[in-house]
Amino acid sequence: MHELAVTESVIAAITTQLPDSRVVVVHLEIGRLSGVMPDAVRFCFALAGEGTCVEGARLDITEPDGVGDCASCGLTFPARAQLAVCPCGSADVTVSGGADLTIKAVEVADDV
Ligand SMILES: [Zn+2]
Repeated sequence: MHELAVTESVIAAITTQLPDSRVVVVHLEIGRLSGVMPDAVRFCFALAGEGTCVEGARLDITEPDGVGDCASCGLTFPARAQLAVCPCGSADVTVSGGADLTIKAVEVADDV
């Protein structure tokens, strides 16, 4: 379960940037191919965020697909797995993207 380590590094990045703010929303992008489970991140975020500036913040997670490029027919299509099969039936597919975890935006409260 590496979600805890992932989540801790996210929180560390935010607390480093915004040490004196009260964070209300964190927008995370977790690629569908990253192997990171969003539900586990939510769970870890609530635990690991205690006592930090993200305590009580809402997590807004989006899960972008990867991109598959088929070498057989040239089609580019959304890939939801590392081993993607093209709609044409070929498995000769190069998958890129969809594996990143990115902090897209952080919203802080005005009252601090
Ligand atoms: Zn194809």
